[in-house]
Amino acid sequence: MLPRPIQNLIDEFSKLPSVGPRQAARFVFYLINQPKEEIEKFAKKLFILKKIKYCHFCNRTMETDHEKTILCSICKNKDRNRTMVCIVEKDTDIESIEKTKRYDGLYYVIGTEDENKQLARLKDLISRIKKSNKELKEIIIATDATTEGETIALYAARQLAELNKIYPELKITRLGRGLSTGSELEYMDEDTLTNALLGRK
Ligand SMILES: [Zn+2]
Repeated sequence: MLPRPIQNLIDEFSKLPSVGPRQAARFVFYLINQPKEEIEKFAKKLFILKKIKYCHFCNRTMETDHEKTILCSICKNKDRNRTMVCIVEKDTDIESIEKTKRYDGLYYVIGTEDENKQLARLKDLISRIKKSNKELKEIIIATDATTEGETIALYAARQLAELNKIYPELKITRLGRGLSTGSELEYMDEDTLTNALLGRK
């Protein structure tokens, strides 16, 4: 039997996505063999996650000491094009799209974890658009070209269609499918992603 603290940590690591108990044990024993300072640094970095909050508009993560919900640097930026919202699955997709420098609108992160949460976030977006964003011209659905991404995209398109009743001019587009099947935004090179953005329809 392993000492309790070790087993406890293995159990924690096992909760991470795609990590099984054996891999979790490898992580823990790797950490045990690190110098004390390294373990301390690691623990501090974990602890600081408590300071991470979600942007009130786009759900993107950000570091803040504020207790109240606030906006992230993109949503706050007055120079961003507020007529466009790009729906992505995760924060890292925003990083990828930002790198192309071909998009200056807003984003909306729907997450990847669970379908109900994604649905809730989509509904939240729709109700907020209904209430406030009269200038919206385009919503780009930029999900991965994977089975999961495709499912979310179809789903989002169906949900968003109701906005057309209020905004007949509103375009709902998807990334151009020059993307090979199975590609995830975060692993795409800038040229491919730029083409996908430019080729959206
Ligand atoms: Zn934001």
